Amino acid sequence: MFNRRDALKSIIVGGAASVFSPNTLLASTAPKKEKLGIALVGLGYYSTDLLAPALQMTEKCYLAGIVTGTPEKAEKWKQKYNIPDKNIYNYQNFDSIANNPDIDVVYVVLPPSMHKEYTIRAAKAGKHVFCEKPMAPSVSDCMAMIKTCNDNKVSLAIGYRCQHDPNTQEFMRITKEKLYGKVRMVACGTGYFDNRTTHWKQNKALGGGVMGDMGVYALQGARLATGEEPIAVTAQASTTRPEIYKEVEETMMFQLQFPSGALAACHTSFGIQMNYLQVNYERGWLRMDSLSNYSGNKGSHSKGIIDFPIKNQQAKQLDEDCMALMNSTQLIAPGEEGLRDIKVVEAIYKAAQNGGTVKI
Ligand code: NAD
Repeated sequence: MFNRRDALKSIIVGGAASVFSPNTLLASTAPKKEKLGIALVGLGYYSTDLLAPALQMTEKCYLAGIVTGTPEKAEKWKQKYNIPDKNIYNYQNFDSIANNPDIDVVYVVLPPSMHKEYTIRAAKAGKHVFCEKPMAPSVSDCMAMIKTCNDNKVSLAIGYRCQHDPNTQEFMRITKEKLYGKVRMVACGTGYFDNRTTHWKQNKALGGGVMGDMGVYALQGARLATGEEPIAVTAQASTTRPEIYKEVEETMMFQLQFPSGALAACHTSFGIQMNYLQVNYERGWLRMDSLSNYSGNKGSHSKGIIDFPIKNQQAKQLDEDCMALMNSTQLIAPGEEGLRDIKVVEAIYKAAQNGGTVKI
């Protein structure tokens, strides 16, 4: 049986995952969508304050549906964004989204421990998945998510908005083109003061801890600035508020060794405001300040400045990821990129616990 959903999938499915040859795609008579329908799963801070407003600015996608466990939120969003009842789901009836042709992409914006379940359910429903960072609390979760998306021939993108930011792309370019020779040293810090006490960020079972949350920005800073994958880590976890950070770390310092010999010293914290990247090359330097904010990231280097203003980072991310689906081109940050970080995050936790160097 080749139903409407399969027809649509054949048009917007990501390149390598497609079961159809390029000729089959061209020959398909199913109408090509101008804009993909996105359903947000989890209507907390990030969906409410950043993603839904961004989806009012996007050109390649729109807010088509929501998945929430709170009926009052459903009513509020329905009114505010004119969402039809048929596109509103709860966590129990979510799987019936499979039969809804309005929804092309499910965007998982839940606490990290829930990313795997909702990515897998969305993939099994035949929907492409965008999943927030950190991809999941463990490497095995990430691998299961990637496998299920592959098995169901849907694409998986991780919400690494900074990789869509031209300011990030510029410091990556400077390394890639060896403007100042090899990278020798990186320092990177990402953190803010979180005054909550019982949020999922302080709860281990829900995937809390600063390393997965803010730490992946520092890790991404080091990985993207070197253009390499770390081969060994050391790490130290600490807290200044043990009455709040009972289960997870408030602050993590971690040091990375890269194959070229480059070294990185990174810090991340729920108790310290910091957002910078410093790169020292053989013959030059670069500094981003800020590195990973929603807007206004900028920096300078030995011979110039990095300052590319953008209208809306999340809208750019959403449009670029949807365009990749529509054109069967590479996603900027697919599931495999989320997995690369979580492999390092796991090694960092191991190093912090055992006190030695952990090879990756
Ligand atoms: P939040 O706590 O504000 O929202 C989480 C949502 O999940 C809420 O609507 C909550 O009701 C729902 N939920 C369902 N089951 C839950 C449970 N058992 N426990 C707790 N909440 C439950 O969190 P957030 O800040 O919106 O973060 C959500 C995801 O988005 C996380 O993965 C986070 O890392 C990511 N995020 C990304 C960025 C970014 O810049 N890319 C920024 C903020 C958050």
